[in-house]
Amino acid sequence: MTADDRELLARYGELTTRAHADPLMPDNIRDLVLALGWSALRGSRLDNPWSSVSDLLNISATEIAQLVAADAPRYELDWTTVPSSCQAPAAPPGKPCGTNTVHVFIERDQLTGRAELRGYCNRPGCLDQAVPHPPEDAIQLVPNRGGILPTYFAWNWEAQYGHATAHAGNPGWRPPVHGLSAAEWPETPGHTRPKPFRKLPLAPAGVLLPTVSETT
Ligand SMILES: [Zn+2]
Repeated sequence: MTADDRELLARYGELTTRAHADPLMPDNIRDLVLALGWSALRGSRLDNPWSSVSDLLNISATEIAQLVAADAPRYELDWTTVPSSCQAPAAPPGKPCGTNTVHVFIERDQLTGRAELRGYCNRPGCLDQAVPHPPEDAIQLVPNRGGILPTYFAWNWEAQYGHATAHAGNPGWRPPVHGLSAAEWPETPGHTRPKPFRKLPLAPAGVLLPTVSETT
């Protein structure tokens, strides 16, 4: 075994240890990270890392595109937090109204875009308390989902995510202004920034997933 071989094995060891310890990592994205890592370490002998992933995981290009799309960096609202009762302040002061929620409003932190769901009842006095929020385009949303793959690999992720999301039925995806990697995003409540990792390069840089039509 050469020194280069030992270095490659050490890098793969780092990758697997990190991928298994990553608290943000969904299982299917972990499989993708490990397969891409193997492809990255085999380096220039491979023309297309996605072909290697398809062989290693025995999945189609369409299935890979769905996985990559699932890791597209984005902000997702947690709709499980809709308040069941009206939160408008009522008499006596300090207590919320408490009547059943009829209207739900999304209130956003103007800096991070982090959303909070507020519930109000039908009474005009309560509805007046709702704060109108600016359109999402006016806020630079800090993502809270995805962005895992770019923390492990240096690659043309903007093109990869754009291609994958378009095939997964979300052609409207746009790269967040705060960066593609979860390690670059400002910390917000509920998002702990991943620790820096010695990224592996994937080659060649320009290869995109085969389109669905090319695989059928
Ligand atoms: Zn009310």
